Amino acid sequence: MDPKRLDHKLDCKACGTIQMDIPDNATEHISIHCTSCGGYLGEWENFRTIFTSRPATLRPST
Ligand SMILES: [Zn+2]
Repeated sequence: MDPKRLDHKLDCKACGTIQMDIPDNATEHISIHCTSCGGYLGEWENFRTIFTSRPATLRPST
């Protein structure tokens, strides 16, 4: 699995950052929004498995 491919999948298509606003009580069908610009990223269901396998991508240094 290519890490860069995953990072690209996670980033915000509007501003290019990887900062998600994830509620504590996240469920599969909640909407995930970009913390930076507030853009809609998709449903939590689509990201959950990615975060489970690569938690380090949550807080990139750049
Ligand atoms: Zn954004």
